[in-house]
Amino acid sequence: MNDRFDITVVGAGLTGALIAIMMARRGFSVEVIEKRPDMRKHDISAGRSINLALAERGIEALRRVGLYDEVSRYTIAMHGRQVHDLDGAQNHQPYGQAAHEIVYSVHRGLLNKTLLNAAEKAGVQLTFDQSIHSVDLEQQVLHLGDSDVDGQHAFNVLIGADGAGSRIRAAMASYRGFDVHEDLLDHGYKELHTPPDSSGEFRMEANALHIWPRGGFMMIALPNSDGSFTNTLFLANKGEPSFESIAANSNPASFLTDQFGDAVALIPDFVEQYDSNPVGLLGTVRCPQWNDGGRAVLIGDAAHAIVPFHGQGMNCGFEDCTTLDLLVDAIGPHWPQVFDEFEMMRKPNADAIATMALENYIEMRSDVADPGYLLRRQLERELERRHPNVFVPRYSMVMFHKIPYQDALSRGAKQADVLRKLTDGISTLEQVDYERAAKWVERELTPV
Ligand SMILES: Cc1cc2nc3c(=O)[nH]c(=O)nc-3n(C[C@H](O)[C@H](O)[C@H](O)COP(=O)(O)OP(=O)(O)OC[C@H]3O[C@@H](n4cnc5c(N)ncnc54)[C@H](O)[C@@H]3O)c2cc1C
Repeated sequence: MNDRFDITVVGAGLTGALIAIMMARRGFSVEVIEKRPDMRKHDISAGRSINLALAERGIEALRRVGLYDEVSRYTIAMHGRQVHDLDGAQNHQPYGQAAHEIVYSVHRGLLNKTLLNAAEKAGVQLTFDQSIHSVDLEQQVLHLGDSDVDGQHAFNVLIGADGAGSRIRAAMASYRGFDVHEDLLDHGYKELHTPPDSSGEFRMEANALHIWPRGGFMMIALPNSDGSFTNTLFLANKGEPSFESIAANSNPASFLTDQFGDAVALIPDFVEQYDSNPVGLLGTVRCPQWNDGGRAVLIGDAAHAIVPFHGQGMNCGFEDCTTLDLLVDAIGPHWPQVFDEFEMMRKPNADAIATMALENYIEMRSDVADPGYLLRRQLERELERRHPNVFVPRYSMVMFHKIPYQDALSRGAKQADVLRKLTDGISTLEQVDYERAAKWVERELTPV
């Protein structure tokens, strides 16, 4: 037993690297086993999206391990959504109204490397190029390589941070006999790269998340610190239009120029990029159980992969790390209790953000261009101004506050209902009955 690490983490992605740092800082001996090569030494993509929206919950976790100052050197502030109409007209929709209500675009690879360096510095042993094939939870043994008889590796306590296709989750499900629900979205995504201009400057407004909402589908673009943007097309996999129908047409150019003319005008080789970049899958993983007594626990996407439309997958995984760290601090290494409490606290919240993330796809791809939606957004900002910290838009609760996701979901549902009632039959803010609104707020909401 003594030659085993106190804690074995599987997966050196964003969540695995962060939890390893937190646990090592608490004095545990920690190892991380990762199937891919070390991205600091090899030119490999960090996987999936190139950049990510970093918000309050993620920032809080990075602050906790003293890394936010370093990370903030390569983030780009996004103050709101820059919406591009079909005719090329643009309008800016701010995210919040307080100065700190900013979402940051962060490069996944740079962030992951920062976390790996910090993990190593904290004394974590990192092992790369080592894939976990399966887990014997009873014997507390990991099987490395390609089969159940290959290399055996004993563990004391296992943290499964091995992402949406988690092997640790699969082992837990088969050992405990529960079903995992993996709902694949019928839409996928494809990334394109908008380079900087010849002077190295951004070709569009830098401090915004750009959206081209087109009803059933959309493109977005997030800025990178080198002056480029990463554009992502979200579209149905099958049907009309879809990735399949575009491929059948053998000419993506006409679809892209018709729908996103001003975006692709900034990408000289957009046809080549479209042809060579893969279509990524999106989905939601709902796992009924996240821990196996005191032996193993799941965190991040391994426990709760969600669709990316609220920009919260990583933020939620980082909040998992904060919660686990706080529990270890409060309870000590009494793992059965720590893991039980962790699951109890986090699972309802993960379910809530999964729901909100799916809802946000409709908001981004279609509502942002709807006058009724825009009036409701204006009204929620006005109500927030009149009732600060009591009426808080749902988007802000998720992105700029740390209130539990499940509270954001339930408060948001109540608020959406009253916003609809208050804007029913009117078209401007001046027509709103603010007395009625104030009475409702007083009756229904407590401060966040
Ligand atoms: C298109 C897209 C856009 C997104 N945008 C955002 C955003 O804006 N904001 C946000 O917060 N989130 C976003 N997300 C979600 C975010 O990417 C994930 O939530 C986050 O990467 C989860 O981190 P993780 O460490 O839990 O899992 P992962 O990042 O998947 O890391 C898992 C690690 O485990 C390793 N691994 C897997 N299997 C094994 C094995 N058998 N043995 C050993 N190692 C293994 C993998 O190689 C990987 O390094 C987005 C996701 C997508 C797809």
